[in-house]
Amino acid sequence: MSRVVHLAPPPVQSAVLRYLGGYPAQLLAQAQELIDAGRLGAVLQKRYPDHHEVRTDKLLYEHVMALKQQYLRSSEPLSKVAYDGQIQVIQQALGTHTVASRVQGGKLKAKREIRVASLFKDTPPEFLQMIVVHELAHLKEKAHDKAFYALCCHMEPAYHQYEFDLRLWLTARDIGQLTA
Ligand SMILES: [Zn+2]
Repeated sequence: MSRVVHLAPPPVQSAVLRYLGGYPAQLLAQAQELIDAGRLGAVLQKRYPDHHEVRTDKLLYEHVMALKQQYLRSSEPLSKVAYDGQIQVIQQALGTHTVASRVQGGKLKAKREIRVASLFKDTPPEFLQMIVVHELAHLKEKAHDKAFYALCCHMEPAYHQYEFDLRLWLTARDIGQLTA
């Protein structure tokens, strides 16, 4: 079984900005300013006020399959889509895409699974969309390269904005700036 862990961040720059390493210094400075003012959570909750109802594995499966049907109809089938409470070290991984090879009827078959960290049950819908698009894109593109991100942006034009804001949101969550 090969397991690919995605969205591993670059090395830690500071405790507060550990989700944001690798982004331009100017963006990091803006984020730090909001953090210092205690306003990061409020700004994000104003920008992303919505909640989603995709809170069970069944609903997540249907949500992912609808997107797959729309954009990646010819890609390999998915055998499982689920939330995974084991993906807790979110600094290291937000979702995983697993390919397990099994012998079925004398043939070697790859079973593809998408697992999404359970924390996404309680994020704004935009961030769930971002992680689902990310994991779906790996059905066609293995590496985090230009083709991969082009596919992500094809499925979700605001992909890059959502990924950055998700990282801000995780930061705000960790330092207690998100209100329930
Ligand atoms: Zn990835």
